[in-house]
Amino acid sequence: MGHVFLFAKGKAEGDRTMVEILGSKGANLAEMTNLGVPVPPGFTISSRLCLSYLNGGGLPTELDGELRQAMVALEHATGRVFGGTPHPLLVSVRSGAAVSMPGMMDTILNLGLNDETVEALALESANRRFALDSYRRFIQMYANVVFGLRATGNGKRDPFAHAMESLKSARGVERDVDLGEDDLAELVQTFKAIVEREHGAPFPDDPWQQITGAIEAVFRSWTSRRAIDYRRVHRIRDDLGTAVNIVSMVYGNMGEDSGTGVAFTRDPATGERRVFGEFLINAQGEDVVAGTRTPLPLDEMTDRLPSAYQEFLRICTLLEEHYRDMQDVEFTVERGRLYVLQTRRGKRTAASAVRVAVEMVREGLIDENTALQRVDPDQLNQLLHPTVDPDQELDVLTSGLPASPGAAVGRVVFHANRAEELARDGERVILVRHETSPDDFHGMVAAQAIVTSRGGMTSHAAVVARGMGKCCVVGARQLDVDEDAGRFRVGDTVVHEGDWITVDGSSGRVIRGKVGLVALDPGEDFTILMAWADRRRRLRVRANADTPADAARAREFGAEGIGLCRTEHMFFEGHRIDAMREMILAETEEGRRRALDKLLPMQRDDFLGIFRVMDGLPVTIRLLDPPLHEFLPRGADELASLAHEMGVDADRLRHTVDALTEANPMLGHRGCRLGITFPEITEMQARAIFEAACDASADGVEVHVEIMVPLVAVHDELDRQAAVVRAMAREVFRERGLEVEYLVGTMIEVPRAALTAGRIAETAEFFSFGTNDLTQTTFGLSRDDSGRFLPHYVETGLLSDDPFQTLDQDGVGQLVELAVRSGRATNPALKIGICGEHGGDPRSVAFCHRAGLNYVSCSPFRVPIARLAAAQAAISHPL
Ligand code: PEP
Ligand code: MG
Repeated sequence: MGHVFLFAKGKAEGDRTMVEILGSKGANLAEMTNLGVPVPPGFTISSRLCLSYLNGGGLPTELDGELRQAMVALEHATGRVFGGTPHPLLVSVRSGAAVSMPGMMDTILNLGLNDETVEALALESANRRFALDSYRRFIQMYANVVFGLRATGNGKRDPFAHAMESLKSARGVERDVDLGEDDLAELVQTFKAIVEREHGAPFPDDPWQQITGAIEAVFRSWTSRRAIDYRRVHRIRDDLGTAVNIVSMVYGNMGEDSGTGVAFTRDPATGERRVFGEFLINAQGEDVVAGTRTPLPLDEMTDRLPSAYQEFLRICTLLEEHYRDMQDVEFTVERGRLYVLQTRRGKRTAASAVRVAVEMVREGLIDENTALQRVDPDQLNQLLHPTVDPDQELDVLTSGLPASPGAAVGRVVFHANRAEELARDGERVILVRHETSPDDFHGMVAAQAIVTSRGGMTSHAAVVARGMGKCCVVGARQLDVDEDAGRFRVGDTVVHEGDWITVDGSSGRVIRGKVGLVALDPGEDFTILMAWADRRRRLRVRANADTPADAARAREFGAEGIGLCRTEHMFFEGHRIDAMREMILAETEEGRRRALDKLLPMQRDDFLGIFRVMDGLPVTIRLLDPPLHEFLPRGADELASLAHEMGVDADRLRHTVDALTEANPMLGHRGCRLGITFPEITEMQARAIFEAACDASADGVEVHVEIMVPLVAVHDELDRQAAVVRAMAREVFRERGLEVEYLVGTMIEVPRAALTAGRIAETAEFFSFGTNDLTQTTFGLSRDDSGRFLPHYVETGLLSDDPFQTLDQDGVGQLVELAVRSGRATNPALKIGICGEHGGDPRSVAFCHRAGLNYVSCSPFRVPIARLAAAQAAISHPL
């Protein structure tokens, strides 16, 4: 196969399947040519040459012959001569990789101009000013792209812009268009002199020399700093290389019967079926991009360029029917004649993506599977939460981790009590703290959003906010928060309590002032799409919910059960935390039982509420797993009031708190370790669960309760806890004269549990992967402190993703697969799910599907995302 692929006169040597070689732009130009779309003739040079060139191989010798042959074909197709007169062939040169990389390399226009051909162009266009202006732009673009002569970040000015400005001020004019023919002729000579001076060689007059230089510059641009950065951010392979597109020039700036524009075949914001775009009369594509003139709405083309408009509408329909997707099309009209310069898949909002997908199924253009693949699950956040109005100027203070999506506006507060007070008075507030703890829960409830300067994607603030569907940014390291002084600082900016900020939890941005938000109604198309998803997915989708209200919301979002009810979260509200603290701090079993007696009715009522809401669906209740540091009283005031409540001496209580303080609480006395040392806690919880289950069942509610033991590392831990639970079940059933079905299972959240899963499955009736802790313990990386350095790891490409956000398939994933295999070897019917934050992450959901899990469980607002992601996984990996 040669290196050069021609498209001209309705026939192309390539087509759209050849994206790897031709790049997406080149492949689509070829495809359109074959379809009969009026594309200016041109050719594409294979991206395969790019890497060999960059590896020092230069351009292959046979390329020159191929280029000359292709150029002859272009000359035939256009009736022009490259470097010749009276009808010079001028071309544009553009890069084009397999994956679109906007702005990777600037375009070169009008290649082929020199002192002779410019005069021919002047005669032909009967517009010498236009010809000279094209020439000076060409020299400038070429010198910029090929010789690197441009403004630099370290203060060097663009020499061409500088020369232009000097000339304008010498002539006393403000705008470029006010310069006359002679001025432009002078500018051309000045520009050439600049090239000779700065580059050390004259500007090439020979078009063949021009074109070789341009091809090499396109190839080199693949390894430019911004291209490398772009690929890193967007996870694009480095070994693709870019193709080069060389296309004969057409002009939208040939007068009032010419123009240029961009259009989408459907509305990219709403998805409405109508061609939507804008155009400029007597302009080049660059003028549209530069934004110096205000474009007109596309439908005004009916009056200005009527026949080209009709032709364009016909082509839009043709392209949509052919590509069966919404297209983003660039066009130029030269003296009334339409040319299409590019087509590509149109980028769109979530609302548009859903509507276009569903309507295209109705129109018979695509099938339901294709429609499902067309919507990015993460993008659904746009439909489920308010977002920052994209049309506004933003004063971004800083960015942190996007812990919980949505956007909110409010006044800054630094303390939970203050948040609650102001919210009670009807104020909208945003709680800003170093980090949050259960103490702050009431403030989090009252706030519109939460921002913390520390913490990672599974820190307290992140997990709790996500559960409430509340916007949250964590680990915003540049925020220097002074809670006591009531202010935070970012660089030189100081924000005080009461100042307005806007938080964008979807991008992690913290923005100064009040910014307009937009909220969308998911609409009927969304419901239709989700129904298609539900018919295809194999994974069940449950929710992590701790209260009847969260459970109800989860059901509305389509949850098929609760996969994790964190019982310690039930004590966040009001004074419940006091009883919890009393229990933790009790010095004797008797004291502990007294506190447990206070907790029992609260738990029972909550469980009853949840069973009622989830009637007929499974509910997984996890036994207490409080990282103790989150629950210990802080400060003298809290300690004194708790001592009073408990009727003990404050000093003595401080002693107990000190004794309970752990060096490493995330790896400390938590999870089942608490129930092992204090079985009375497990007894109380089991009693509350079974009493609630019996009461609900007696009321006709269908209860499916699954009791889950956390942080098991040794199978005996589970065996002993299961024995306590089962004994309590028998006791309660006897007392109530009634039995309910239940399962006892475990979380797999430390490596030892995964490694010994076969043995654990002898007792466990189900597994649920706690991938937050499993990630923490597999990496040996504290989930609360990871915000300090993990972002750096991701930014520098050391890790491709934050492992607390997207499951680390190579490491943590191996433990998951091993545990699934060995657990099912013991018990083939073992039910297996995941309830770490990964349960709502699309790529992690796809992994869970392939690993053979039965369900994923995520926060209520992510349920639709997981449903769609599970359907996509089932379509691409039918098991
Ligand atoms: C987990 O560790 O993944 C989990 C779900 O438990 P928690 O986040 O409550 O520790
Ligand atoms: Mg855990």
